[in-house]
Amino acid sequence: MKHSLSEGRQLVYLQGIEGSYLRELDVRVIGYENGGYILDRTIMHYQGGGQPGDRGVLLSGDLSIPIYNVKKKGKNVLHLSTVETPIDRGKLVLDWERRYKIMKMHTLQHAISSVIFQDGYESLITEVFPGYGFIESNRDDIKIRGEGYDINKISRNLKRYDVRREDLDPRLMARCNLDKLPKSISEISVVEIEGLDLCACAGTHVKNTAEIGDYWIRAPGNRVEFGLF
Ligand SMILES: [Zn+2]
Repeated sequence: MKHSLSEGRQLVYLQGIEGSYLRELDVRVIGYENGGYILDRTIMHYQGGGQPGDRGVLLSGDLSIPIYNVKKKGKNVLHLSTVETPIDRGKLVLDWERRYKIMKMHTLQHAISSVIFQDGYESLITEVFPGYGFIESNRDDIKIRGEGYDINKISRNLKRYDVRREDLDPRLMARCNLDKLPKSISEISVVEIEGLDLCACAGTHVKNTAEIGDYWIRAPGNRVEFGLF
């Protein structure tokens, strides 16, 4: 949901939309604590903002150290692993197949949230997983019309950029509840779907909505559920 610019340089996956497409990265290992490796920089998204943490491996020499999740604890991003080995450097390799599904799902979630918002429904809670996701809204009478849900059929580019809080577009305040963000957050990472949506987000997304491919959607009660075929 938020990050500072300096953290953004460490979180390589947040450098433009392209940063989310890096599958491997040479890293320096700062240490191992609380069950996880701390690295100088990373391509792995840490769990939060309605998106799961990434998985993958940390390679060093003949070693292949499994990373089963990534979480933030205090200021540190922990690459969680049950294998503790003292190493100085390594190559971080993402479980790309899983991550790419999450990128499609997160992009789909933004688009659906934007479409239902136009009909007066707020997205109070959003969660995406590899291949499945849901939105919980403030009202329980959501109707999925045909119109507006052809998200994967219209080619729209995505962009990511940092905005100073005082320069934020008022449209952001409406769809994304930015007034809930602590006043101490001065710079906000914004994801824009060309001609459709603008929202603060520190997750990962695809470059173009056409990448999403076929998906299903249904709306039981106050939830919208959706997934990839
Ligand atoms: Zn997002």
